[in-house]
Amino acid sequence: MRKLLPILFLTISVVVYSQGAKKPIIDIHLHGYSSIPPNVQASWAGESYAQELTSPQNSERHLQMVTEEMEKNNIKLGVISSTSLEALKKWKTNAPELILTGIQTDELGRPILSPDSLKILFEKGEVDILGELGLQYFGLSPDVPTMAPYYKIAEENGIPVCLHTGLGPPGGPHSFAPKFRTTLGKPTLFEPVLVKHPNLKAFLAHAGYPYIQETIAMMYVYPKLYTDIGVLTWALPIEAFYSTLKQLMDAGFGKRIMFGSDQMMWPGAISIAVKTVKEAPFLTESEKRDILYNNAARFLELSPEVISSHQK
Ligand SMILES: [Zn+2]
Repeated sequence: MRKLLPILFLTISVVVYSQGAKKPIIDIHLHGYSSIPPNVQASWAGESYAQELTSPQNSERHLQMVTEEMEKNNIKLGVISSTSLEALKKWKTNAPELILTGIQTDELGRPILSPDSLKILFEKGEVDILGELGLQYFGLSPDVPTMAPYYKIAEENGIPVCLHTGLGPPGGPHSFAPKFRTTLGKPTLFEPVLVKHPNLKAFLAHAGYPYIQETIAMMYVYPKLYTDIGVLTWALPIEAFYSTLKQLMDAGFGKRIMFGSDQMMWPGAISIAVKTVKEAPFLTESEKRDILYNNAARFLELSPEVISSHQK
């Protein structure tokens, strides 16, 4: 028996390790594009991540690299949102089982589909999510009247809504987003929409950072509201991200926080994001599983068949 013990221990360790390595992840927050400016560095990334984050040569290469990153990290499902229906079609065709699609907004800040088209394409399974809605980038509040028919369709049909909240890249109002306003990222601005649509299935992208007290207030009062940690894992200094995540955990929202990389033009952000969550010193293994997979599976109402296919 004594001789057998080390072998037994080794066997158990290998099994546990390999199960750990194989556990699935859902990335609720990714982006795809019809074109991409090459060799752009994420100069504003936290820590020393900028060196690792340079945009690929073109959108095809971006698709390929993001898909490879997803496979490498055992991400079994990812939500790609885009301002281009054509780009979304390419992503879905490339890996139908791996990709859900979200529609963003046009140059005036309106969703790229009419409310009726959204309903039709959702029913056909060609569009899965309304968002990421970057209304803030266009100087618009979440309850801008043009969005009213979209929220109605989303609520009636169970279409998940992703709302950009919190910050945007430094210098945005003086460069690519002249109408962007920081205060339009406050999570409480979403309240009139949730009051009007009690059954809306929605999540706050970026956890409303740095308006974290508002996120906590909203998630407390609206128990169906979820959040994601997109971009925070790699754009902030690690202590700022961990203290944000810990505040949300301490407030009791461990079952409504979803993993999102928000890799944008930088596929390498996916690995950094996964690693940062896995290494969070204050999370238990089961809390990590909730954030990395279970919460999004529940939010997206994945079938038992799909969930079991992800365990392979
Ligand atoms: Zn995003």
